[in-house]
Amino acid sequence: MLKYQTPTGMHDLFQKDLEQVAKIEQLAKKMADFYGFEKIETPILEFSEIFEKGTGGSTDIVEKEMYSLKTKGGDLLTLRPEITPGVVRAYSQAGMQNLPKPVRLWYLGPCFRHERPQAGRYRQFNQLGFESLGTPHPIIDTITILIFYNLLKSLGFKKLIVEVSCIGDGQCRGAFKKALTNYFRSKVSSLCADCRNRLKRNPLRVLDCKEEKCCVVKKNAPQVLDYLCKDCSDHFKSLLEFLEELEIPYSINPYLVRGLDYYTRTVFEIIEDTEEGKVQGSLAGGGRYDGLVKLLGGKDTPACGGAMGVERVINLIKAKNKQAEKEKQTCEVYLTQVGELAKKKALKLFEQLRQANIKAGEGLHKESLSAQLGAADAMKAKYSLIIGQKEALSNQVIIREMKNGRQKVVDIDKVIKELKNKI
Ligand code: ATP
Ligand code: MG
Repeated sequence: MLKYQTPTGMHDLFQKDLEQVAKIEQLAKKMADFYGFEKIETPILEFSEIFEKGTGGSTDIVEKEMYSLKTKGGDLLTLRPEITPGVVRAYSQAGMQNLPKPVRLWYLGPCFRHERPQAGRYRQFNQLGFESLGTPHPIIDTITILIFYNLLKSLGFKKLIVEVSCIGDGQCRGAFKKALTNYFRSKVSSLCADCRNRLKRNPLRVLDCKEEKCCVVKKNAPQVLDYLCKDCSDHFKSLLEFLEELEIPYSINPYLVRGLDYYTRTVFEIIEDTEEGKVQGSLAGGGRYDGLVKLLGGKDTPACGGAMGVERVINLIKAKNKQAEKEKQTCEVYLTQVGELAKKKALKLFEQLRQANIKAGEGLHKESLSAQLGAADAMKAKYSLIIGQKEALSNQVIIREMKNGRQKVVDIDKVIKELKNKI
């Protein structure tokens, strides 16, 4: 093994990867221009405190995954694990609260989390995000979801699921947390060691655990939607009505909490409903964060946003292209033969197929029929034409329908006409 490699969970990006990122960025820019978002770039390093306070001390991100350092000047800085707290800091620092509301900002850039590397989970990855600050109205939540949904659609994703929930606010969250704590306490022996700790600090975090045994316990836990106050409940209802109006297919997941502490009311995640989609995990996620601007020292400002994982999206696009390549039909008919005389007749028929403009493949250099039929399958031919020794002598051809094996024998000079009728 080479002595110096990229650090675990980090990757080099080459031209073809960068082209994919650029393509996604271009589409995002188009979307941003239409919906009125301006681009922002914040530093990769921020004071650790904005993540400790913002993202939240009880989250896995802050507890276990941050790359933090002390500078020579004694500052405590962290490589950003997400970009929202930086944007919120910049909003207040630049006095953007005085601009017409909502202030809409978008970004694309690297994030760092010391997670266990696995499919779709890296230690350096890019997030593309959209944030709207200054308006509590659920139309903002709707547009946030719409942007990610549209973006993924235009990138060719067809089987998207938008999971949504409402996790309440300062008014109603307390009662729900209490009910949740009581429930999990009664099941504490069935929780993983991490969750037993999470339970002491923030029971919502248990709902975000991906351990199998905790997922089982989660199934009967109290549901946040039963605890919402009237304002939150109305806000959620409006969001769902707007989503229906836009015909965005959503599903309510009452256990969706997301891995960050600052969310209030709306939370959402978008996943692709395919095998590979489930392996990669959520493509985008976000929600409303009405308390974060104030928490980080700014003016009380309602806000909502979300971020998409660029690498996960690219991985799924690559998997799709590979699948499409595999399924691509490279010929309509495939010509097979057995024996010397059959080879000669097949050679002539192949020429006639070309003149008739029928997309054909051949295995004239091959001897075994099963190898030739295998090649016909691989090329996704609809029909194979078989000339065996017997057919060569009687000037006939077997037309075999590949999907069901049905066969028909026709005279060799009628094959082209017969095929033209079929194709
Ligand atoms: P997950 O539930 O999969 O851990 P998350 O809740 O941590 O995701 P967010 O913090 O909301 O995700 O980040 C938004 C998006 O960033 C995710 O939907 C995902 O696409 C991407 N993402 C998050 N963590 C990683 C990672 N370690 N590697 C690659 N992409 C990531
Ligand atoms: Mg995570």
